[in-house]
Amino acid sequence: MNFEAVKEYIKQQGLPNFRIAQVQEAVFKRGISSWDEATALPVSIREELKQKYPILSFTVSKMVFSQKDKAAKALLTLQDGLQIETVLLKPQDSWSVCVSSQVGCPLRCSFCSTGKMGFKRDLTQEEITDQVLMWYQYVRKEKLAERISSVVFMGMGEPLLNYLNVIKAARDLSNPDYLNIGARHISISTAGIADKLHKLAVDLPQANLAVSLHNADDGERSKMMPVNRRFNLEELQKAVEEYIAMTGRQVFLEYSVLENVNSRPEHIRKLAKWIFGIKDNYLIHVNLIACNLGRGAKTDDKVVKDFAAAVKAMGIGVTIRKSMGNDVLAACGQLAARTRK
Ligand code: SF4
Repeated sequence: MNFEAVKEYIKQQGLPNFRIAQVQEAVFKRGISSWDEATALPVSIREELKQKYPILSFTVSKMVFSQKDKAAKALLTLQDGLQIETVLLKPQDSWSVCVSSQVGCPLRCSFCSTGKMGFKRDLTQEEITDQVLMWYQYVRKEKLAERISSVVFMGMGEPLLNYLNVIKAARDLSNPDYLNIGARHISISTAGIADKLHKLAVDLPQANLAVSLHNADDGERSKMMPVNRRFNLEELQKAVEEYIAMTGRQVFLEYSVLENVNSRPEHIRKLAKWIFGIKDNYLIHVNLIACNLGRGAKTDDKVVKDFAAAVKAMGIGVTIRKSMGNDVLAACGQLAARTRK
């Protein structure tokens, strides 16, 4: 919901300020999904709001639920008919939302379904925050939780290529007047847009940064992630080093292990060399993802465990992350939506 526009409308109508607090309470505390439920407001105001300010800037066209994980995926139809996907997950004891930042993605990583869609357009600030609001409504209605605890920008699109809207959305999400999700519980994941990391460190110093590395060999990484031709591993390394120096925050390196593609001893050596080339490398943490890299390719658990053991033996912090929602194509690299336009 465009709360700023609603506030402006209430002011323009000469309505008392407490009406703003009533809207805020209804939408962001109670999680109403229709203005009819905002019973503290007079019917005439509810009708006006219904006509002019939809609570969500899209319609939910479909929801699918994982049978094996606590995960759900929603297909959303935007006002121009384009479609995106968003995911709700409960990896541990709290609920997290994975938001999309673009319709499609221009970066075309070889393992990613979104990349195969091509790029349609950036999402607006409101279209991003509304994905979290929609899941908030859902968890409240289903009595699953009182709140959404964290948000990850790991859905469709490259967040740092929709920079302004992503920053504004992240700030809105952590605003106590909105959903009040702590900035430290918001994570931005990039495929390696190195020239935006300095600005990100200034604009969102409290957020978590995840960099999808997947390979520390320039030639091989360029094949997996063509963005590497624009920002190679050396540029990315310098940008990550500067980001750490500016924020003092831990940086997460995402690495999807695919047997015989990026899992051999030389890959581990190159990964370690890349990490040790960063000054405060003790702040780098590697997340190994047992992630589906597409075309039915699946990595044996033992390969991932051996990779983790080798990385750990070099003194590098490492965690094997479970990929959730595979059965509903909600895991990393699997989001894609048919687009109508
Ligand atoms: S992995 Fe991320 S950056 Fe790469 S194509 Fe997919 S959505 Fe874009």
